[in-house]
Amino acid sequence: MVRGTHLDAVIVGAGFAGLYQLLCLRDRLGLKAQVLEAGGDLGGTWYWNRYPGARCDSESHAYRYFFSRELAEEWESTERYPGPAEIRAYLDHVARKFDLRRDIRFNNRVVSAQFDEAAKHWRIETESGERCTATWLVTAVGCLSSANVPTIPGLDAFKGRWYHTGQWPHEGVDFRGKRVGQIGTGSTGIQAAPVIAETAAHLTIFQRTANYSVPARNAPLAPEFQRWTREHFEQIREIAQSTVNGHAFRIEERNVADVTPAERQAIYEAAWEKGGLQFRATFKDLLTDRAANATAAEFLKARIRATVKDPATAEALADIDHPYSAKRPPIDTDYFETFNRPNVTLVNLRKDPIERITLQGICTRTQEHPLDIIVFATGFDALTGPLLRMDIRGRGARSLREDWKAGPETYLGLQVPGYPNFFTITGPGSPSVLTNMPVAIEQHVEWITDCIAHARRNGVQTVEPLADAAREWGERVQEAARATLLYDAKHSWYFGANVPGKPQVFMPYAGGMHRYRKICEGIAAQGYQGFVMARA
Ligand code: NAP
Repeated sequence: MVRGTHLDAVIVGAGFAGLYQLLCLRDRLGLKAQVLEAGGDLGGTWYWNRYPGARCDSESHAYRYFFSRELAEEWESTERYPGPAEIRAYLDHVARKFDLRRDIRFNNRVVSAQFDEAAKHWRIETESGERCTATWLVTAVGCLSSANVPTIPGLDAFKGRWYHTGQWPHEGVDFRGKRVGQIGTGSTGIQAAPVIAETAAHLTIFQRTANYSVPARNAPLAPEFQRWTREHFEQIREIAQSTVNGHAFRIEERNVADVTPAERQAIYEAAWEKGGLQFRATFKDLLTDRAANATAAEFLKARIRATVKDPATAEALADIDHPYSAKRPPIDTDYFETFNRPNVTLVNLRKDPIERITLQGICTRTQEHPLDIIVFATGFDALTGPLLRMDIRGRGARSLREDWKAGPETYLGLQVPGYPNFFTITGPGSPSVLTNMPVAIEQHVEWITDCIAHARRNGVQTVEPLADAAREWGERVQEAARATLLYDAKHSWYFGANVPGKPQVFMPYAGGMHRYRKICEGIAAQGYQGFVMARA
């Protein structure tokens, strides 16, 4: 970045969102735009998350851009679920095809952005002290990119090595002959444990909240399926863009009570065999009706008990305290089977909590567990964390950290009152993490692009939402969550409950991607209702 440069737009982040936003602003609107990226290359989430077993939970034919048929035809996925290397290769292909790299500055972490009210532009500064200004500031920083390492006394003095899964060393970690402790059994921990156990001398898994998981059933993609996805590009896109969660499958129209117990069992068994997130699409009331949900929960708990041989371990793993899918449901490859290995132990932190980390291991209330390596699969300061890590200041130097002290307040998860010309791709208050992310990202990027085009056509200098519009949207976000069982799992990261001191507010919009898309389209069609478009 050249000191003092003025750009039409700065985009923060070079993952799925940043790349497409650059393409739209630069090539469709003709803006002078630049991406600033903290990492050393493309990928966003997939640049950092290279932990053992890392793999996307969305299927390859849906975890991609849909804006170009040509792009879809050129790219061949190799497995049912793409791994980080394949996703990075895909993004590299996209960047080459559209010549995007020339406008991306890697190793440039944005640390602050301040709106200059007189000049009506943003002053942006990176960690290395470089500065530029931009009329439009778009954050494409991801929802799960700010690693959450819990504060456990003693970690600093630990004599072994420790790693967070979201900041995994690119050269990998050699677990051979090592005693490994893994804290965390969310989507990440459930993927990592079976792979770590294959080479570690011993793996101790520290579980605080037991979790459901459905087999992913990953496999190489058959050439016929690859051909089918190319031939049915429009149909796949139509489904992904019209469903609740942006995946390329529809949620069944039936309720649990519409079928007999025997039929229900057969439906669950078939979904279990098929594997993947589609399990939750078996009935439409799984996320809204407690009794319906309990049938899925019981089915999954029974599977855990049937798989895990040691009864006490099975009981600790099946002792799940929330409805199925109320926390983000993981999918796995041999997770529960891993507990049958002689070199794997489960520690139930609900009964035996971690007290401290010692020089040589983790000390729970009852005993010390000697370890050479600790793996923190402890998740992220989700949604707000990546934004608040930067010092973002709007009108009158008001600070986003201050303004969001009681929780994020956005209009549509796209803009914040008091922060003109500032857009957040998949920000809090949008469906974001409740969807197949690339589909949510494309919708946001295209909406933002249209909004900026509209402003430029009409001589508008600043775009920002009305405070009332944001407040009302915030209420709708809470209402949408309350209508689902997601609201029951108060200890989920959707509420920010995993980060001590974080305000406890349900953050994503749970009303469904299909509904959200219509709301955004309607607002734009009505002349950007709720937004102030100022000409001077
Ligand atoms: P997570 O879902 O937040 O899970 C973190 C785990 O660490 C939980 O088991 C949590 O326990 C535990 N934990 C946190 N702090 C702890 C502490 N102080 N002591 C003991 N245990 C602690 O994080 P994640 O597994 O990294 O997943 C985050 C999200 O990333 C997922 O939900 C998903 O959206 C996304 N993800 C996607 C994929 C994929 O697509 N393949 C893979 C991985 C992640 P509690 O539950 O008790 O808090």
